[in-house]
Amino acid sequence: MKSGARAFKRNARMALEDERLQKALGNIATGFIGKRARAVNALPEFEALRDAGRAIKEHTLAHLDHYLEHFEAQVKANGGEVHWASTPEQARRIVVDLCQRAGARRVTKGKSMVGEEIGVNKALEAADLETVETDLGEYIIQLAHEPPSHIIAPAIHKTRGDIARLFREHHRSYGLDGPLETPRQIVDEARQVLRGKFVSADVGITGANFLIAETGSSILVTNEGNGDLTASLPRVHIVLAGIEKVVPTLEDATVLLRLLGRSATGQEFTAYTSIHTGARRSGDLDGPEAFHVVLLDNGRSAMLGNEFHDMLRCIRCGACLNHCPVYGAVGGHAYGWVYPGPMGSVLTPLMMGLDEAGDLPNASTLCGRCEAVCPMSIPLPSLLRRLRQRQFTEKKGRRFTRMALAGWAFLALRPKLYQRVTNLGVAVLSRLGGRAGRLGRLPLMQAWTGARNLPAPQGQTFQAAWRRQGRR
Ligand code: SF4
Repeated sequence: MKSGARAFKRNARMALEDERLQKALGNIATGFIGKRARAVNALPEFEALRDAGRAIKEHTLAHLDHYLEHFEAQVKANGGEVHWASTPEQARRIVVDLCQRAGARRVTKGKSMVGEEIGVNKALEAADLETVETDLGEYIIQLAHEPPSHIIAPAIHKTRGDIARLFREHHRSYGLDGPLETPRQIVDEARQVLRGKFVSADVGITGANFLIAETGSSILVTNEGNGDLTASLPRVHIVLAGIEKVVPTLEDATVLLRLLGRSATGQEFTAYTSIHTGARRSGDLDGPEAFHVVLLDNGRSAMLGNEFHDMLRCIRCGACLNHCPVYGAVGGHAYGWVYPGPMGSVLTPLMMGLDEAGDLPNASTLCGRCEAVCPMSIPLPSLLRRLRQRQFTEKKGRRFTRMALAGWAFLALRPKLYQRVTNLGVAVLSRLGGRAGRLGRLPLMQAWTGARNLPAPQGQTFQAAWRRQGRR
């Protein structure tokens, strides 16, 4: 598949024809969706929790400058350092610089979407730093030289056979050649390789699910425990996070954690929830000698208070991806950048521009499932519609689409003319449908009618039928 959000259409076509990918995507329906539904149904106060979570995020966003400054002061008080990055380039430079100042040669990394957003692995490798992903899914795609295809399950597009082949190819040099037929065997082999990397790493980089202003802590959830080994064994711990991750108190974070686990994987709580506060203090048995937090803006502050403000409440749970029929059909790589699915179709154009990612707001049926399951009640369909509107007013969409929309708007503003034209259209299509009542390939509508027949309109338009009904 081609990288870049411009290639959505081509990527989607290829994904639909890829049998192995289609088989792997089938796991989403049987896994995440059912587990989330059971977890939510088992918690009567889920809706109340959702309202509380939304209120916490909205309050924090309304006072974001205050909470970020407070967070920085607390990190400093704990002996750590906060670094501010407006752009991915600045963030990369800061991370590479911190690693070089630490004299690092090997870097271990936990899963971090901000790390993907800034392309930190490439920057570290270009600086001759060996970089090892420690989350199993991220490790698999690192071996495959692929980007993640899901924000919480990066290798969801891989089957067990794909992973076994990858491990055989890359692990022979470690003297590993055992069977890889069960998930247990696969996990055990990854563990054998990664153990040595954990203990010999100089720097550990993790993401953060939340940052706590009152204590200067970062909270990280994982199901593998790799985040803890990445954060506490190396000499230096670097946390990568977007500025919207801060919340006022630990109490606030617990509300969001209860929503996150259930929405993401259907767990009441993720297996490991770790709180990292500063570097090792005297008397501590373990922990890093230095603690750094790199805070990334990359377009986030521009969204504060504007028509896309709601998107800043996102806690990256992945529920909108799991329930999206488009994501379920084409997978994450088709979206061409790090954030796929409905949340990615909003975020990518906002971060990269509509010229780069103009197809994505249109890669949605607007069925509303994403909004219904979003624990932060983000109105994703409305945000997608706003992007489409912006695309239209800035003349950035396809010319034909713009002309069709302008034509429709012209008619919609003139009801009498609209009724006459639609009556005529219905009559013509009805006649073209013939006795079968179905239409084959239609000019200008090949994408809809190329693979399926369109039922021909029956009788009259809705408005005509309604008027007639009223006269009876
Ligand atoms: S938009 Fe909502 S459902 Fe999607 S990842 Fe963000 S919080 Fe989860």
